Amino acid sequence: MKKKCATMIYLFFAIFIFQASALADQSGLQIPKQITGERAAEHLQFLTELGPRVAGTMTESDAATYIADQFEAMGYEVTIQDFPAEDSNGNQIFSSNIIATRTGKFDQNVIIGAHYDSILKDDEYWCDDDLEVGTGAGDNASGVAVMLEVAEVLSNYKTKGTITFIAFGAEESGLWGSRYYAENMEEEDIENTAAMINLDSVGAGDYFYVYSGRDGNPGWARDLALKIGQRMGYDLRTSPQSDCFDWGTTGDWSDHRPFRYLGIPVAYFEWMNWDIEPCGGEESGIYEWIMHTCFDNVNFISLEKIEMTADVVGSLVFQLSKNKLPKFEKGKVAKGNKYISIPKRNDLSN
Ligand SMILES: [Zn+2]
Repeated sequence: MKKKCATMIYLFFAIFIFQASALADQSGLQIPKQITGERAAEHLQFLTELGPRVAGTMTESDAATYIADQFEAMGYEVTIQDFPAEDSNGNQIFSSNIIATRTGKFDQNVIIGAHYDSILKDDEYWCDDDLEVGTGAGDNASGVAVMLEVAEVLSNYKTKGTITFIAFGAEESGLWGSRYYAENMEEEDIENTAAMINLDSVGAGDYFYVYSGRDGNPGWARDLALKIGQRMGYDLRTSPQSDCFDWGTTGDWSDHRPFRYLGIPVAYFEWMNWDIEPCGGEESGIYEWIMHTCFDNVNFISLEKIEMTADVVGSLVFQLSKNKLPKFEKGKVAKGNKYISIPKRNDLSN
């Protein structure tokens, strides 16, 4: 009797889990049902209303608190990783990474990251002085907003692998948060990390892209993302072969960089336009750049783009944390990249 009862409970539970898990399309692709982009839009609104979240300022810290509170409310284990950094003038500041983890049944890990700081002013790209300061809506409240919605949706799903969401601080002044995190990963953590998904500026550019890192960084996470995007009917693209970059790769200008230096496969999402600028892309055929300009406010953000990104990223993370993936292949690490001090973004031209 007891056994029968347990079986029935199990059956009930199994049916419940099945119903709450995911839709499968005809090809068997698992798609989390609840991604709508609506919660992402709310997060985006809140973060941009704070104003520019410049590294080392109270506003950056207020954004960090908001993000940590959100992750906690979703039931994640949250760690605040403080680190020393420099602002764009080279002055010492302090910033933090907000790390939310759900430990899986096996030790395989997938990292999803997005920086939450933004710039105040970039002399090179700045608009007229009398226009309002951008609020980092696209760069990168959009990435954080997508990450938070995906985290919330996936918190209701059964996954097997460990998932680690990281909101990085102080990206704009030199990838300080992601470098600090990557440099402090244990050897075991590096080996267990199947992929790093980076979200940077995913709400405003012309077209939807995903790339791997450069120089032999394994491209399978990018390729899986492309396949998922295609099956969902989205025009998800990657970078063309050019004099500057090999097909499917891009520059080291965002938080994927320290992870690809460790040899971890990268899938880096952004909205961009490589048709008008095949050597690194330009954001918009009309405005040229939205990031780092006074255009970077909510009026230039497309909620449809946010939703499409959340859709693909949610499915990608779901796929990656559902199955046991091949162990990280050490042979594929870009030559000589392990255990070196990872250079700042501004130390190299790209
Ligand atoms: Zn950015």
